[in-house]
Amino acid sequence: MASTSEQTTCETMNSEKYADVNWDELGFSPIPTDYMFVMKCSEGENFLQGNLTPFGNIELSPSATILNTGQGIFEGLKAYRREDDRITLFRPEQNAIRMKMGAERMCMPSPSTEQFVDAVKQTVLANKRWVPPPGKGSLYVRPLLMGSGSAIGVVPAPEYTFLIYTSPVGNYYKGDTSLNVIVEEKFRRAIPSGAGGVKAITNYAPIFQAVTQAKTKGFSDVLFLDAKTGRNVEELSLCNIFIVKGNVISTPAMLGTILPGVTRKSIIDIALDSCYQVEERVIPVEDLMDADEVFCTGTAVVVNSVGSITYQGKRVEYKTGVESVSQKLYATLTGIQMGRIEDKMGWTVEVD
Ligand SMILES: *Cc1c(COP(=O)(O)O)cnc(C)c1O
Repeated sequence: MASTSEQTTCETMNSEKYADVNWDELGFSPIPTDYMFVMKCSEGENFLQGNLTPFGNIELSPSATILNTGQGIFEGLKAYRREDDRITLFRPEQNAIRMKMGAERMCMPSPSTEQFVDAVKQTVLANKRWVPPPGKGSLYVRPLLMGSGSAIGVVPAPEYTFLIYTSPVGNYYKGDTSLNVIVEEKFRRAIPSGAGGVKAITNYAPIFQAVTQAKTKGFSDVLFLDAKTGRNVEELSLCNIFIVKGNVISTPAMLGTILPGVTRKSIIDIALDSCYQVEERVIPVEDLMDADEVFCTGTAVVVNSVGSITYQGKRVEYKTGVESVSQKLYATLTGIQMGRIEDKMGWTVEVD
């Protein structure tokens, strides 16, 4: 039990506006914050009630399905602090819907959209002092849904845990203003009829090797091709890709192997609203090499221009900088997120 004096110190500390973080040094490594949200339910039942608990380690049986068969999915969204100090989320219901789809694919119960959004709001509010000052970054929110009950065979767990933790973050690709990407020729990320279209935890460790090798060679990330033909562009390790040719912006169509990004969807709407022609289609790697501009989108990366792509030893460079399409789309998206541009679509949600 904490003594009264410790509790007082703790409360005093927590009432301060900002946590003790060097906001200018934020990258994308986890920084523990004050609270996490935890909610459990049994197989065949619905999630009912969860609660905030101090951030810390969790206990699991060694035979929990998350540890043995990878029965788990995650989400990722951000909370932003505006100039007027209000804290907002960006389209959190979209993450809830995607988690529900993923949960069905992985045979798990999922929280309702309302439960999900409410839990995210509670977690962000409880960790408010960790939301960086405007312009310094954002509070990354990581919801997890996992089989926490025991099973040794290839069967779903008898118990599930929904957990949300947060971390202040800055740039995902630290130091890389525009990305140097290599097309991955050996490893594939997702197969037709597989689980590439959901944020299953089992989709990520298998690409560590490709990403690590690319980084060793000095690249920012890899671009995956489709597993069936090895000829068409899919996406990067944690973000979707767009190519620009003239007034046409194209992005790979969602055929089950690409993660349906909330940022992807929002950028398509912003681009249409800005009078670009947008195509969701199969994109052969030749079209990529012939593009004027390439950029990628995701909650972690926001909108990031790609400066070069290397494929079969050949390097192609693209337009980047202030006059680029990706810069314009970035400015509009972040303008809406930060409240500098009118949110006509009703995408932003205030937490308190
Ligand atoms: C999460 C993710 C994205 C981006 O999705 P957003 O909803 O925009 O954050 C893209 N590709 C992969 C593989 C992802 O895991």
